[in-house]
Amino acid sequence: MKRFFHIAALFLATLLLTACPEVKPGPDGPDIPGGPDESWRGQASTEKLSGITYQINVYSFADSDGDGWGDIRGITQHLDYLDSIGATALWLSPIHEAMSYHGYNVNDYTSVSSRLGTENDLKDLISKAKARNIGIYLDFVLNHSGSDNIWFKQAAADPDSPYRDYYLISDTPGGYDNGGMGTWYPMTGADAGYKGRVHFKVDMNAKTVTVTQTSEPVQSPNTQSPKCWLWYGSVTQHVGLYTTGTNIYEITLDIDTDWGFLVCTSTNWADGTKWGGTGKGVTFGVPFQMNNTTAANITFGGDASYYFASFDKSMPDLNYGPAATAATSPAFKSLAEAADHWIEMGVAGLRLDAVIWIYQNNTADNVTFLKQWYDRCNTTWKINGGKGDFYMVGEAWCDNVDKMAPYYEGLPSNFNFYYYWTLKDRINQGRGNDFAQTVTHFRNQFRKYRADFIDAIKLTNHDEDRVAHDLGRDVAKEKLAAAVLLTSPGKPYIYQGEELGYWGNKGKGDEYVRAPIKWARNSGLASASLGGKVDHAMLSESISVEAQEQDPASILRVYRNFAQARNAWKALAKGEMEPLSSPNSAVALWKMSYEGQTVLVAHNFGGGSAAFAVTGCTTDKMIVSNGVADGSSGLLSLGPYASAVFLQ
Ligand code: MG
Repeated sequence: MKRFFHIAALFLATLLLTACPEVKPGPDGPDIPGGPDESWRGQASTEKLSGITYQINVYSFADSDGDGWGDIRGITQHLDYLDSIGATALWLSPIHEAMSYHGYNVNDYTSVSSRLGTENDLKDLISKAKARNIGIYLDFVLNHSGSDNIWFKQAAADPDSPYRDYYLISDTPGGYDNGGMGTWYPMTGADAGYKGRVHFKVDMNAKTVTVTQTSEPVQSPNTQSPKCWLWYGSVTQHVGLYTTGTNIYEITLDIDTDWGFLVCTSTNWADGTKWGGTGKGVTFGVPFQMNNTTAANITFGGDASYYFASFDKSMPDLNYGPAATAATSPAFKSLAEAADHWIEMGVAGLRLDAVIWIYQNNTADNVTFLKQWYDRCNTTWKINGGKGDFYMVGEAWCDNVDKMAPYYEGLPSNFNFYYYWTLKDRINQGRGNDFAQTVTHFRNQFRKYRADFIDAIKLTNHDEDRVAHDLGRDVAKEKLAAAVLLTSPGKPYIYQGEELGYWGNKGKGDEYVRAPIKWARNSGLASASLGGKVDHAMLSESISVEAQEQDPASILRVYRNFAQARNAWKALAKGEMEPLSSPNSAVALWKMSYEGQTVLVAHNFGGGSAAFAVTGCTTDKMIVSNGVADGSSGLLSLGPYASAVFLQ
């Protein structure tokens, strides 16, 4: 019986939703039933005001040449679509030659990856997007390069290379208090190993090993209860040494090892009985001091140093020296020259990856660095005739808003992860009445550090489980999240696929939150980059752009309606949020005002209907809505997860 009721309720809700008039906001003209005086619509702007940025995974957005990889020309071919979703900017995933499909381990910051296109393709995109008032933002990875970057290869090949200064390289790994992120990896220089006949003498009294080149006959390993073993080359077991004195062990061997060797005093050598070095190589004939704490590989005079990587072995961290003088460091200069090239070409902004790790989670140093980086790029922007200040947004992914807010001293814009975490929690709890107050609190924190901060609000991105996943794949909740995002103060980011209701989580791989756009019911997918990690069940005909454009009740329509409203109404696009006391715990209520224009924003975060008296909500001044929303009876009534915006 309960189940029947549920189905009946769903059917009724569907009828209501379908019956609800589709609202075309702004200057395109009124589709809203209401009063005879529609002159208020003349206050709508014909400019694009929204500040919406659409986040693109270039490798999986759209494929123009049929090779299965998304590419830059694919983006250019879909500018109509991006325009229709109100975008005033596109954030492209890293476009440079890189080691992996996602591009975050860059081999050459001055190049365009041949898989994604050419410089001319980028110039063409910049110019055609600009004609639609859409700017292009590049993802710039300053924390680390790829280990195949020529800078790192030269640093690894030659201990005297000037490129050693570009990275954090040390003979004695350790020393960063960096919140647990990062590992020291051996440089593994080409001559770390050795091939030839050598005599080993281990002295466990002095904890030394002496390696001597020799022409003496080779000995078979000692298999009669040895007390000391060697491990080297590709052997999978220890080679026993002969006892020649008190705690003295020796053997002569032909060895072939590409990494050096280790000494063990037990076959259970994980237990403090593994003896090695601290990163230095042996000198033949000279006793080498061993230890069992670092116990690093003992090499043969090659590069025995280590490099630091916050994220991955393939991503050595870049080194800018002391933060106060970062701009004078060789790595900074090289990266700034690369950035100059893109800014001169017409790129309108940069998204900076992982900025809290540039100085290993040291906020003050990172901010000092970022100021210098921003000033350098902004100068280039202005020299090249850029309007206003250059846009730059940081991924300062901190645990809490208080830790992130100081990054506004370094950058004009930062991603607001806390906004999404709050929104997700409140929608899942059906509780909207403290949402505006919480968002205002975040904004007040940012304001402390920069008066003209640009709050980069978002739902999810390429590194997070999808919003649809987080909201239990409940389409009504997903539409609500979209409506809230596009009626909130700040600069909203829409991540590729969010507008279509893509779901997916990182459990089986990041690729599942980076799915290609399904453009038409029967179109193929730009999925070659994803190594088969594609959820074909999700990428059905009905989730396609083609199907959703034709369906008035689709998620895509909600995105488009609210994006158009944001583009047209300056109070929505540029207004400051004024939280209003909510008469219903499920309802979020706020005003947005800008240059004499005010709108009232109402969202029902709950699964039940809500009706209450609120001044200034008449249906004939409803700019945009989603779900069942009505203000005609003197009360504002909102159906489950419904939203409405009224011009005041
Ligand atoms: Mg392609």
